[in-house]
Amino acid sequence: LFINYSENEKFEAISHVAASLAHEVRNPLTAVKGFLQLIRYSTLEQGKIEQYIDISLMEIDRTESVLSEYLSIAKPPSKQMGKTNLSHQVQVIIDVMSSYAIMSNVEIELEHKPVVPVWIIANGDEVKQVLVNFMKNAIEACVEVPHAKVSLSLNLVDRNVLLIIKDNGIGMSADQISRLGSIYYSTKSSGTGLGLTYSFQVIRAMGGSVAVQSEPRAGTRFTISIPLLEYAQETPATRIS
Ligand code: ADP
Ligand code: MG
Repeated sequence: LFINYSENEKFEAISHVAASLAHEVRNPLTAVKGFLQLIRYSTLEQGKIEQYIDISLMEIDRTESVLSEYLSIAKPPSKQMGKTNLSHQVQVIIDVMSSYAIMSNVEIELEHKPVVPVWIIANGDEVKQVLVNFMKNAIEACVEVPHAKVSLSLNLVDRNVLLIIKDNGIGMSADQISRLGSIYYSTKSSGTGLGLTYSFQVIRAMGGSVAVQSEPRAGTRFTISIPLLEYAQETPATRIS
């Protein structure tokens, strides 16, 4: 993330992170504090109390996920890479994301995967976080869309595995596409703009690449290409730290 930056630039980048993190955490804290004060000091009917507790819990959940996004970006990509079963990881993350998809009225489908396990050289935790980031974005792009669908497919092409994540959501303009991966770039009211910065960095470190096709109001297709295990050593991973 902080490639070849001077000490001064590093300090500036860190203060920027600290400032936006403080902002992301202070808002939900203020909200939760307000609800607790209401519950403690006013006479509320049971229904209201339950409603305030539910909102508070949602705020805390969101803060937790914001914190984990910030922590993942603060950590340099791990040097501990090993043999990782990508097809298994994809299935695990589809299961993990299914409740979020149902809540958002979006259908998730695994369209195609090779019959044999797909092995790559990676850090399993990083791969999971990357898959979550892309799927979360795809689901969030679909919330207002009728018959919303996110489909995934894994294909073996030459020396690589191509993971395609496709949605029929709001899509992006050429200008928006060109800004993808820039730190803090987000079009969402409660976005951090860190998910893709982190994901691109992890994929690059595996010797992989990301391509995107998108059209406003039609949808988006991300194609992530990662070298297969038997070819991964030939593309030495350039680690950024
Ligand atoms: P965040 O999700 O917190 O906004 P990300 O780095 O994950 O940050 O994504 C940055 C931006 O890229 C999003 O705010 C959105 O504008 C755009 N984006 C990413 N994925 C998609 C997608 N599947 N469809 C439409 N826009 C997307
Ligand atoms: Mg995101």
